[in-house]
Amino acid sequence: MKFNTKAIHGGQENIDPAYGAVMPPIYQTSTYHQKTPGGHKGFEYSRSANPTRTALENAIASLENGNHGLAFGSGLAAIDAILKLFKPGDEIISTNDLYGGTYRLFTKIFEDFGLKFHFVGMNNAEHIEQYINDNTKMVWVETPTNPMMNIIDIKKIASITKKHNLLLAVDNTFATPYLQQPIDLGADIVMHSATKYIAGHSDVVMGLLAVKDQALAEKLYFIQNASGAIAGPQDSFLALRGIKTLHVRMQRHCENGKAIAEFLDQHPKIDKVYWPGLENHPNRDVAATQMKDFGGMLSFTTKEGTLDSAVKIVEKIKVFTLAESLGGVESLAGHPASMTHASIPKEEREKTGVVDSLIRLSVGIEDIDDLIDDLKQAIG
Ligand SMILES: *Cc1c(COP(=O)(O)O)cnc(C)c1O
Repeated sequence: MKFNTKAIHGGQENIDPAYGAVMPPIYQTSTYHQKTPGGHKGFEYSRSANPTRTALENAIASLENGNHGLAFGSGLAAIDAILKLFKPGDEIISTNDLYGGTYRLFTKIFEDFGLKFHFVGMNNAEHIEQYINDNTKMVWVETPTNPMMNIIDIKKIASITKKHNLLLAVDNTFATPYLQQPIDLGADIVMHSATKYIAGHSDVVMGLLAVKDQALAEKLYFIQNASGAIAGPQDSFLALRGIKTLHVRMQRHCENGKAIAEFLDQHPKIDKVYWPGLENHPNRDVAATQMKDFGGMLSFTTKEGTLDSAVKIVEKIKVFTLAESLGGVESLAGHPASMTHASIPKEEREKTGVVDSLIRLSVGIEDIDDLIDDLKQAIG
């Protein structure tokens, strides 16, 4: 099955054995009748499994070319489950330019439980090798990175993790399986904040994992059930409905993203534009190889360079909405230094380029003329 067909039918065999409903029903139930003790139809308690959630889990496994999917109450809950694979003393090498909440989970929760994190620039994959020792267990990659749109070569990183027998986990939230399929590139675990493009309508908070290996999947299922941070049936339904239009939405996100990146790149008041499809992007060739297109996320700085110059723009926008989050049908603008990345110390964030005048756009699927007119009037 090709991707566009999988988005609609992937993993959806036998979705409603009861009545043949085309969409899996929302099984809003915590428990299931058993004819005799243990005599159930595969579902006994909804923390362990729920048919609506299972339908979604099968869908993400199919889209990511994995064999197993797991749905959690948020993206961070999904990452939390991955980290519970490890023990005190274990070390993880992570991208240094990463989602603020992931950084906070790593440093403020799991460091206290004895995990050690190394935050490393991965523009050159070989750079990670100097951080590998006997305690290293996993490499954590986010690509494109948030908000600087760095591109990390997943295949190259995978060749290193395979050599050293380490797990490779990829946060695929920005790219989605439409643009990039990390398992095919050698990753062991793919993670999504399904809150973003996967659900796609800014109406649900959810996390997803996809894995290929059976033993690894079983460990993660154990953690999902034992820790219990599952996605509910209603949210699972919404995410599954979102998935069915992922490919058409992504196509438009990419078209609009390109037009806006090119517009900003020519604008006299704009300094730098970070979008992996621009000719001047340092890892454009890697993006062109591992991604199908360049996505709808981009960031830029003003020539003025001040906090005030960025704040003025995000206060003036009308079609774009100033808000956290990304990946929905509507265009959003954010100011990372004071919003999504406020939990990262100024010194740390400026090292990775998150300066005061940086604005991040999640380009939606509205008419491109309205989006560009809006930016024109806001930038002045
Ligand atoms: C939003 C986001 C997360 C966290 O997901 P939640 O659903 O908000 O918990 C993780 N990684 C990236 C790249 C994100 O954008």
